[in-house]
Amino acid sequence: MKEEERCMMAATMATAGESGGNQRKEEERAKDFGNRCHFLPLAILYPKSVLDISSTLKHVFEIGTRTDLTVAARGNGHSLEGQSQAYQGLVINMKSLQELEMKFKIEELSYVDVSAGELWINVLHESLKLGLAPKSWTDYLHLTVGGTLSNAGISGQAFKHGPQINNVYQLEVVTGKGEVITCSEEQNADLFHGVLGGLGQFGIITKARIALETAPKQVKWIRVLYSDFATFSNDQENLISSQNTFDYIEGFVIINSTGLLNNWRSTFNPKDPLLASNFSSEGRVLFCLEVAKYFNPEDTYSTDQKSPTLNSSIEFMSPR
Ligand SMILES: Cc1cc2nc3c(=O)[nH]c(=O)nc-3n(C[C@H](O)[C@H](O)[C@H](O)COP(=O)(O)OP(=O)(O)OC[C@H]3O[C@@H](n4cnc5c(N)ncnc54)[C@H](O)[C@@H]3O)c2cc1C
Repeated sequence: MKEEERCMMAATMATAGESGGNQRKEEERAKDFGNRCHFLPLAILYPKSVLDISSTLKHVFEIGTRTDLTVAARGNGHSLEGQSQAYQGLVINMKSLQELEMKFKIEELSYVDVSAGELWINVLHESLKLGLAPKSWTDYLHLTVGGTLSNAGISGQAFKHGPQINNVYQLEVVTGKGEVITCSEEQNADLFHGVLGGLGQFGIITKARIALETAPKQVKWIRVLYSDFATFSNDQENLISSQNTFDYIEGFVIINSTGLLNNWRSTFNPKDPLLASNFSSEGRVLFCLEVAKYFNPEDTYSTDQKSPTLNSSIEFMSPR
């Protein structure tokens, strides 16, 4: 890219939002959660509108093959390998896109239209005010809608509803040419399927229509530990394929130690500190199955009665 083109780009960005020339902010954008890749961008765009993104991408497209400038959307920067960074390129900070208020539609298939820069935690809080919740989650909710829809978005509801990319009705996308296109299963389906799970390589998601369901009023949450992988995975497969099963099922691997990252131990403490202390084999690999059953107080059965038959069907580790 020629010097005059770089200057033009910086000018476009300055009019779009905050200045792109702020060295400290550029350094911030050269980091992500993994903290392994540090690609300093040329500029950062803080879009205030979809038009800011489309006119910038149109400009980059029009420069054409004369430039090797790369563009990366950045959600909450929780990638591990620099996926939301652009070496000497342009980073688009999606969280600054605030023109879109969440818009809810409550009907048979309820949904919410949200800005792609919105954090899932905010989507949850707003949905709950209406007694609704997204159907499919990530465990950690301080991730953006656009960031997880560019990956998959997986948590314990995925066995039932599919990952988050299976629970989107419609997207608004800015393409590499700067066009703003609405896409869904029925409309511009190739773009829709390309962008979902596309790591930002097929366009920038600016808006998403997220599927909602009625939020449960109560949840029974259970964690069980295993020492044997085969028993753990058999139990998980059985639960996933059962008719009367949980609403949330997730398995994970734990290295038994007392460090900060091992907060799973708090599940057994302080209610039953003796139980937790039995898993004292430092460095040992354990397996954890986490399940949850949703309830509503108006249900006639108690939580215990309605719970799937965990004890009789699975072989979890008993303390010694
Ligand atoms: C602590 C932690 C917990 C996690 N938990 C889970 C979990 O439970 N389930 C799960 O599935 N994943 C989980 N992840 C992984 C996470 O979903 C991905 O790293 C996700 O990309 C992070 O979202 P983000 O908003 O930070 O995206 P970023 O890291 O900012 O971006 C990720 C990718 O998406 C692209 N992108 C971002 N926004 C857009 C957009 N609007 N349009 C097009 N492309 C875009 C970026 O260019 C980049 O390629 C976790 C990660 C961390 C660090």
